[in-house]
Amino acid sequence: MKAEPEAQRRLLDLQAIDTTLAQLAHRRRTLPELAELDKLAREISALSDERVRAQVDVDDLDRDIAKQEREVDTVRQRLAKDRQRLDEGRLPARELTAIEHEIGALGRRQADLEDVEIEIMERRETAQTLLESIEGRLAATRTRREETEAARDAALAEIAKEEEWKATARKPLAADLPTDLVTLYDKIRESSGGLGAALVQHGRCGGCRIELAGADRVRVKSAPADEVVRCEECRRIMVRTAESGL
Ligand SMILES: [Zn+2]
Repeated sequence: MKAEPEAQRRLLDLQAIDTTLAQLAHRRRTLPELAELDKLAREISALSDERVRAQVDVDDLDRDIAKQEREVDTVRQRLAKDRQRLDEGRLPARELTAIEHEIGALGRRQADLEDVEIEIMERRETAQTLLESIEGRLAATRTRREETEAARDAALAEIAKEEEWKATARKPLAADLPTDLVTLYDKIRESSGGLGAALVQHGRCGGCRIELAGADRVRVKSAPADEVVRCEECRRIMVRTAESGL
């Protein structure tokens, strides 16, 4: 293939733009914020589960306290009734003894029930403290997620802006170059990790860095300036300039 030396040199400008575009695409795929957001999503999911469990614990203890309170109430009412009967007097001696006995037993029962209730209330306080601590961690993690999302969006917007500049610069450059040259360059670029054309420097192919030697060096050196030369090793277009060291 033939192409003016100037067109071949401008192919390097096109390559520089394409390399930057490839780097921007890579940056978009590998933004640190993406990995961070994955991690935060897992943390939020785990904390949400923890919060549900902690809330269930608090609710269960609330139910236990209410049940205990109802039992205490029953005993209190019973005690009040007994005391009223006692106050009213006029009770036969045997019944009096029975009531006094019952009042004693009910009093101890009430104290026991109240002790248990206090113990449950203490457990509820601990459960509530745990719930609040989980809620605090969940809120902090959600805030971090919002901040990370904002950072990601800012980075994506920056990449999109740079891509737009590069694409705007690429269009007229590619349009000015011979179509067959650009087509060949694009084909090689796609099959060679993004690098289609490279400058020969210090007698080496700029694509694979292999030094040109012997007959191959003679071939490249003696090729007419408008000949599009390709590397024997990596098949990339080798752009020759005065600094190629051939
Ligand atoms: Zn090469």
